[in-house]
Amino acid sequence: MVELKNVDVFYKESGVDALRDVNIRINDGEFVFIVGDSGAGKSTLLKLLTNELPPTNGRVFVNGYNLSKLKKNKIPKFRRSIGMVFQDFRLIPGMTVFENVAFVLRVIDKPKRFIRQRVPYVLNLVKLADRAKSYPSQLSGGERQRVGIARAFATDPGLIIADEPTGNIDPRLSYEIVELLLDINKCGATVIMVTHEHDLVQYFGGRIINLKNGQVAFDDFIAGKTNAADDESYEYGGDSE
Ligand code: ADP
Repeated sequence: MVELKNVDVFYKESGVDALRDVNIRINDGEFVFIVGDSGAGKSTLLKLLTNELPPTNGRVFVNGYNLSKLKKNKIPKFRRSIGMVFQDFRLIPGMTVFENVAFVLRVIDKPKRFIRQRVPYVLNLVKLADRAKSYPSQLSGGERQRVGIARAFATDPGLIIADEPTGNIDPRLSYEIVELLLDINKCGATVIMVTHEHDLVQYFGGRIINLKNGQVAFDDFIAGKTNAADDESYEYGGDSE
């Protein structure tokens, strides 16, 4: 569960109120898109959720942790309860696809036997079982991001945060990336995806949180084009950039 209660973030350096009185609750198992124009506060919101930034006011709860009271020795365990998917993939170039995914499991001391089973399982989920021995440089952008998703899910975190995961890949392949995140969501992970691609959001629908000038301007469900009549009546007020 993710909950922000009356959260403000004020950056002293720039004098900017990046978030103002934000209240959001995301239950376990949800899939949520976070949208908003540049400067709306999306990155600031993600930094709160990953405990990189404390709120100026208000409280933040993630995966059962009250982040304002998180003790230093609990931080590693908290971080492991979140899987991150980055816009720039962040794969290790000198490691194969298999090794990139196995690495995050080794870091947390998972037994070899577990790794030998888990890595093929997650690579299969993202339809890359046949590329296990390839290096990132031998993959397309879409394939690299599929590795990124496999890696994020390898540790079986309760929450996956995908920060503009389609930002660096061919727009035609963006849909496939969201579909994989939806598959992962069906496997039990809560998924929060930040994006500025309105077409994607309109296509898939679901719960949309639209930030504007640091405030929640819209937080509701919209019908997607996959399961709704092709009309524009479910506009959520997102401006295109
Ligand atoms: P988004 O991710 O939606 O583009 P951000 O959360 O990055 O928005 O930024 C929200 C506002 O806070 C912007 O006005 C930005 O200039 C400001 N801001 C972001 N990060 C910092 C920072 N580290 N120091 C000062 N101001 C910042």
